[in-house]
Amino acid sequence: MLSHLKIKLAFLIIGLGLLTSCSNDNITESDNHEISSESERHYLIHFDGDNRKVVTEIDSNYYIYGDVLVDKANVTYVRELHTDDEVYTAIDEVNSFMASEKKMSIALTPGQSNIWSGATLWPNGIVKFHIPEDTFSSQQMSWFKQAADEWNTKTNVTITFVDRTDPGYKIIAEKVKSGCSCTVGYESKIGARNGTMRISDTCDLISFIHEMGHAIGFGHEHQRPKALEYLTFYSEDDYLALHRILLGNGIRNPQVIIKLLKLNLQIESVHNDWPPYEYNSVMHYSSWPRNNQHLKNVMKANDMPLFKNKFTGKEIPRPSYGITPKDADKTNLAYSRFTLEL
Ligand SMILES: [Zn+2]
Repeated sequence: MLSHLKIKLAFLIIGLGLLTSCSNDNITESDNHEISSESERHYLIHFDGDNRKVVTEIDSNYYIYGDVLVDKANVTYVRELHTDDEVYTAIDEVNSFMASEKKMSIALTPGQSNIWSGATLWPNGIVKFHIPEDTFSSQQMSWFKQAADEWNTKTNVTITFVDRTDPGYKIIAEKVKSGCSCTVGYESKIGARNGTMRISDTCDLISFIHEMGHAIGFGHEHQRPKALEYLTFYSEDDYLALHRILLGNGIRNPQVIIKLLKLNLQIESVHNDWPPYEYNSVMHYSSWPRNNQHLKNVMKANDMPLFKNKFTGKEIPRPSYGITPKDADKTNLAYSRFTLEL
């Protein structure tokens, strides 16, 4: 595939019409496999045209993947899911819809690679962050810079740090008690609030690089439509077995945990499911929940990774490399560093 692509060093500015061709969903994403024991209402929604998702309602807002906020203004259809079975049926419906959608388009169009369909690209590929003073440790400040350098040296995107007074949309970093998360993409609406990157002491350099990937506009590798061809996910029998194991290990509310695991593994819609799948992508989760050590220990002791490499049957380790060549490819296609060799 790469032999057909020519790296163009000159920066190509994409017209604003392309950048704003999809509406923005003001979404926040979490890197922490957030597991909650609260019971909330769930809905199947259609939003941003034909995109669909099973969401959880918390304080009148719709969330996906634990910490992804969906703007209700873009929601066109809502069906409440009253029972766990209704939730599972709706997740199957969403996954099969996403799997069929990937067959619709294979054209490689600059500005339309593996960016979430709900996200918008940053004008001129300049991604702005504001880091408040006296908020983060020197180690964390160093990771902000190293993560930015990683994207800046390997891709055509420019991550830059600006003052709070800098005009226009920017992502403001916040210190939080747990987890690592970030809004996805650029907010193009006039007068929109700024984005947020939430950082806790559990975040490491890979987390910073990963969250910046969300800021640029990417979702998770394991939630691409292509993931269905490369990963083996739990079967219904596996979920039943996990339920029994969790009960036997004194884990509270196993049915809620299983429902949230399923919700976090929904397939996500992307503009174009290119490049080829990559297990080492910095946007890939590992096969184990990260922030719930007890749950992770129980799953590991029972050899029950959430997903496995479909070809080797092996678990997927947490990425350690940083931005891989394919991560760079999809970024550069989205932000038009490549021109297709005709
Ligand atoms: Zn993430």
